Amino acid sequence: MSQEKKLLCTACARLHNPAQFCPVHPDEPLLDPENDDVRYELINLDDRARSRTYTRWMVGLGAAGLAMGIAAAYLTTVFVNVAFGVFAREIIVGGAVGGGMAGFITAKVRYRPRFRQWTRDGQLDSSSFDGAHPE
Ligand SMILES: [Zn+2]
Repeated sequence: MSQEKKLLCTACARLHNPAQFCPVHPDEPLLDPENDDVRYELINLDDRARSRTYTRWMVGLGAAGLAMGIAAAYLTTVFVNVAFGVFAREIIVGGAVGGGMAGFITAKVRYRPRFRQWTRDGQLDSSSFDGAHPE
């Protein structure tokens, strides 16, 4: 008997014994992760998940930063006794940008590609071109 290759379910991101569908997800056809088309699809799935993670964190913390910036601008006006608008725009924009950056960093720390072990890092960007030229 030839060695049976395990196949991947994209819903559970795990390998299963060869079958047509995942035993856990009966609607998920099992895929061969060594197939280039499948790998490309896995990279796409990871890319979309990455975008969702970054968008969620950056929008969420950006909005929180914006709210804090507005509150800080208001408090500055009340307690520092400057006319609203002197630093308000800088504080509010700073809050939103700071929140967005915090969101970016949080997303970078938290995001793990689910299919990394099959996509060899899941990168289609410049990092995969570094030193890869056989010249
Ligand atoms: Zn599954």
